[in-house]
Amino acid sequence: MSMEELRTGAVSTQENVARYLEAIEERDSEVNAFIELNPRAEEEARRVDEKLRRGEAGKLAGLVIAVKSNINVRGLRATCASKTLENYVSPYDATVIERIRREDGVIIGMTNMDEFACGSSGETSYFGATQNPSARGRIPGGSSSGSAAAVAAKFADLALGSDTGGSIRNPASHCGVVGVKPTYGLVPRHGLIDLAMSLDQIGPLARDVRSAALLLEVIAGHSDREATTIRARGESYSSQLSADLSGMKIGFAREFEEYTAGEIIREVKHALSKLEAQGASVVEVELPSLEKALPTYYLTVFVEFFSATRRYDGRRYGYRIEEVCGEEVLRRIMLGRYISRKEYSGRYYRRALQFRSLIKREMLEVLRSVDLIAGPTTPKLPHRLGESLTPLEMYAYDLLTVPANLAGIPAGVIKAGEVRGIPVGLQLQAGPLEEQKILNAMYALEGGE
Ligand code: GLN
Repeated sequence: MSMEELRTGAVSTQENVARYLEAIEERDSEVNAFIELNPRAEEEARRVDEKLRRGEAGKLAGLVIAVKSNINVRGLRATCASKTLENYVSPYDATVIERIRREDGVIIGMTNMDEFACGSSGETSYFGATQNPSARGRIPGGSSSGSAAAVAAKFADLALGSDTGGSIRNPASHCGVVGVKPTYGLVPRHGLIDLAMSLDQIGPLARDVRSAALLLEVIAGHSDREATTIRARGESYSSQLSADLSGMKIGFAREFEEYTAGEIIREVKHALSKLEAQGASVVEVELPSLEKALPTYYLTVFVEFFSATRRYDGRRYGYRIEEVCGEEVLRRIMLGRYISRKEYSGRYYRRALQFRSLIKREMLEVLRSVDLIAGPTTPKLPHRLGESLTPLEMYAYDLLTVPANLAGIPAGVIKAGEVRGIPVGLQLQAGPLEEQKILNAMYALEGGE
């Protein structure tokens, strides 16, 4: 449903849910965006409509939300698209889900993803790959493949994804939707199943900037239960949207061109000229440490993921992870185990931590001279489903997205244009807690007022 229909009450929550369920029934056998649907969605919608009639409904009333399968939603399965957690039914709601329910959002189901969020294409799921609804025959990107595809295919108004190194932004770019990775610590992670806990953040995917801003403001903010959440004010991003970019300074790093396909750069530059037309000025900046971002990211992820997987030892959950997982998850466990050994940790992990602070310093330094860093999201277009890539080719997708996670800064993606009918996203990065600047620039590009 459109935000307009929602505001005017032209469509009820029940009708909205029914339409989406019908669309899923008709087309999800091709897309494979969902692993499981919420059997209580219609009942929940009925209750929201009652609240709407009484004038007591929350901000998300009427909206239908799909949730990535690594976030706990009570009574539904948080499989992480793995065989290991195939039968794991969440006993509780993640903090973000509690907040969504408090504002009367209806959860329609759990989406497909790369197994344990390890991947950039959506192909490593135990439940099979997801199609890109905006570029048939190609990968939708990952690891939040089903969440981006569900939004792009109009199976839901909004979706939650998680982003450790680009998993919200990469599929948002490939599917032509809006995605936001918040500042580290802005959104509570309680109830998110870890990939690498020093990098993971939950964030929204949407078809338009306003609804992405709305979902973000509902899930953001300090939680008493979680010491790592920032004591941030409860911002109202959606009501503060402004497409007037006068005075805004945007940096474009010359290194982006070096690593990215020319046809993608063309679309990105075209989007930048639209931002200039709204009052922004674009300057060139330098990010020389970009070349260190991928090894730094992957070393960190291998070590943290290895440690996170030690709980899947076959005693508490159905299976011992090493016995049933896919190739990519196994590779990370093996490498993580190796790097974590005392004699190697100095050589690899500690080195990664040093590079991480270097990259962070460099990003923050640049962001003191400009409001936003704008550039491409992925260096290349999404490959065809079934095409086989080496691990390093797969990791290369993440080059431009991992710096934001390493630096803990927010980053958003919105469609910049298309190359031969395939969506290409513009990525915007800002200083810590400057989500509003990103949202405003995206809003301007979308053509908002
Ligand atoms: N593609 C990256 C990885 O495989 C990012 C994953 C993510 O952000 N969850 O680690």
